[in-house]
Amino acid sequence: MLLKLTRRLYWQDMYMQEFDARVESVDGPRVVVDQTAFNPRGGGLVSDTGTLAGARVSEVVKEGEEIFHVMQSPTGIGPGAVVHGVLDWDRRLRIMRMHTSAHILSAVVNKETGALITGNQISPDQSRVDFNLADFDKEKISSYIERVNEVVTRGLDVRTFFMKREEALANPGFVKLANAMPPSDDMLRIVQIGDVDTQADGGVHVKNTLEIGKVVAVKTENKGKSNRRLYFTVE
Ligand SMILES: [Zn+2]
Repeated sequence: MLLKLTRRLYWQDMYMQEFDARVESVDGPRVVVDQTAFNPRGGGLVSDTGTLAGARVSEVVKEGEEIFHVMQSPTGIGPGAVVHGVLDWDRRLRIMRMHTSAHILSAVVNKETGALITGNQISPDQSRVDFNLADFDKEKISSYIERVNEVVTRGLDVRTFFMKREEALANPGFVKLANAMPPSDDMLRIVQIGDVDTQADGGVHVKNTLEIGKVVAVKTENKGKSNRRLYFTVE
């Protein structure tokens, strides 16, 4: 059986700022369209915001295979209507820069210490990554951030492609969040940042690391004995 899922325009083109779509269903403030460029909340990323048919989209969420645009207030639109969507692009671009940075940061810390990521939150203003690491002092953090910025300035291309699930799972480095993937997906989307990081990932990224600008550490927190949280931003 073919599942009817919202076509993810953000996978075809992560730089799509506007799009047209047909309304499939409306339930109060929740609108489903046949295709969308809005990246839903998930994988640690906050959702995109913007407008649909001129009305505010406050959040976008994915439930099963469907993507719901949660409108600030109910709109007059109904099924069959053709609507125009516009993303809050400044916000989205910052999310992409932060997200690609988080992958590089995780790869750098993992290479240096073997630490794994236990959680992350990618937001436009400030993001955080949690590592299972006991030792995380100021000097170490500055050296990790320095390494991250070295990678950024190398101008690495970020490539996305699909791979058979079994093939991806055969490479332990590819699937760091395997249990976060729906088991029904027989194709996994892979995101590759030059020779630095390759993993299964559904989120939005910049095309080249130079777009990140500069990664800056904001603060760290101890979240338990061997859990360190690092907040960072991009400038
Ligand atoms: Zn990611």
